[in-house]
Amino acid sequence: LLGVEAATVRFGGRPVLDAVGLEVAEREIVCVLGPSGSGKSTLLRAVAGLQPLDAGRVLLSGQDQTGVPAHRRGVGLMFQDHQLFPQRDVGGNVAFGLRMHGASKEQQGLRVGELLDLVGLPGAASRAVASLSGGEQQRVALARALAPRPRLLMLDEPLGQLDRSLRERLVVELRAVFGELGTTVLAVTHDQGEAFALADRVVVMRDGRIAQSGTPLEVWQRPADEFVARFLGFDN
Ligand code: ATP
Ligand code: MG
Repeated sequence: LLGVEAATVRFGGRPVLDAVGLEVAEREIVCVLGPSGSGKSTLLRAVAGLQPLDAGRVLLSGQDQTGVPAHRRGVGLMFQDHQLFPQRDVGGNVAFGLRMHGASKEQQGLRVGELLDLVGLPGAASRAVASLSGGEQQRVALARALAPRPRLLMLDEPLGQLDRSLRERLVVELRAVFGELGTTVLAVTHDQGEAFALADRVVVMRDGRIAQSGTPLEVWQRPADEFVARFLGFDN
């Protein structure tokens, strides 16, 4: 579904993405791990069309996306600070993505209900955003991101601000939701536990390059080099 070929982004001459190559198959869930500043968010922004490449290209379903604006790529991107619209209720937030895609009021209502069921917030459409807990807000943000049925959903630290026990629970639920919808996912996280629980495949980044890509088990059992091993918390 997604192909990233020799993607390079430089800021002030310094490569932040350095000839990154990555493929993500239909229905695959890939988690990008790596230290702060290694280029994870830049990679997602480049795929989304929010960050132009200095070299290389992004392909979606085999088609070169060079010059295709973000809103035409059919991908969803959910940022860490999920930015719900506080003046809209939960349903209004979820429907936002639908309205832009020209669905009727009735279709919207049905779809919002489905999406809220899916993220474990049945019947919450008329609630005020401010009355929701942090975890519930994350779920609403996820439902909003899923609403336009993106062919590729990208999540940048989707559970970043939540406490560990809630994150662990949500990760399991997310995996089930993505499986049910057949969503292809490219997610960034700092947290390797989260990545290992969510992902079919883990990509470890270092200084704008991919240090290792493999199943969680492969990466865990056979870190490619000392950097990956240390990043995973092995001391020797
Ligand atoms: P974090 O885990 O902290 O979110 P990250 O891996 O997502 O880090 P990026 O946000 O991709 O890292 O940034 C990679 C590097 O590029 C950082 O050193 C950052 O300062 C730099 N950078 C990102 N965007 C810009 C920009 N618009 N102008 C200049 N430098 C930038
Ligand atoms: Mg980032």
